[in-house]
Amino acid sequence: MSPHLRRERVELKTPEQIALMRRSGLLLARVHAMLAAQLRPGITTGRLDALAEQMIRDEGALPNFLGYQGFPATLCISVNEEVVHGIPGPRVLAEGDVVSIDGGCIVEGWHSDAARTHIVGTPRSSADEKLVAVTEDALWAGIAALSGASRVGEIGAAVEDLVTLEAGETLAHLEGFGGHGIGRAMHQPPDVMNYRTRDRGPKVVPGMCLAIEPMLIQGDGSWRMLEDDWTVVATGGGRAAHAEHSVAVTEQGLLVLTAEDGGRAELAALGIEIAPDPAA
Ligand code: MG
Repeated sequence: MSPHLRRERVELKTPEQIALMRRSGLLLARVHAMLAAQLRPGITTGRLDALAEQMIRDEGALPNFLGYQGFPATLCISVNEEVVHGIPGPRVLAEGDVVSIDGGCIVEGWHSDAARTHIVGTPRSSADEKLVAVTEDALWAGIAALSGASRVGEIGAAVEDLVTLEAGETLAHLEGFGGHGIGRAMHQPPDVMNYRTRDRGPKVVPGMCLAIEPMLIQGDGSWRMLEDDWTVVATGGGRAAHAEHSVAVTEQGLLVLTAEDGGRAELAALGIEIAPDPAA
């Protein structure tokens, strides 16, 4: 999930607290894997939401989106022209739909937040496949940038550069929404922008935990909010994708809290070794 922007003090976590956040993130990674396996033409977004809530509660954890500023579900599910914060319900998914699933949970008071975008069955177009692939690459470019960054603002610059490199002007960022700090609350300072701004952001220091979440739209980035006051939809005729991980900065490097392998494989491909995983 993605907040509007603020600036306050950044909460730094101890290694013990990061280990608890890893438990929260690992459960969320497994929920996402379950949802990916369930996704098929004919399933409703409401059914996916119910499956996620059940799995989180079965593990003794709590959903953190449910009730957040009145949000009525465990997941945000945003289909096709919906960009973020779609509300699950009776909608039946169809072949070729672009479905972004955003979720989070709380383990012993510690929050996780992560999103993935899938195409149901056979993609409708190569443009849809590219949308999803570039969004995922942009996320990992942002995470990789954090590993060597001195300021949080370097994440957004790296995300923007990756999107420009891979997609030119064919994809636009959702402006006005971004990533965030995460910990004892889902949304904490600092803001983590998805594009270059004049604000360099706070210094990157061990103990910082951030949710990085590029949101991309085909064509121009114009959008509006639906009457439900949650769902952000693209108004330029394009589809949208969203990818997010919660990431910890430690003395020994990064740990991608919401990736099953802690980000080991993706970051190794970018020449980065992850920090020791307390869940391993
Ligand atoms: Mg988020």
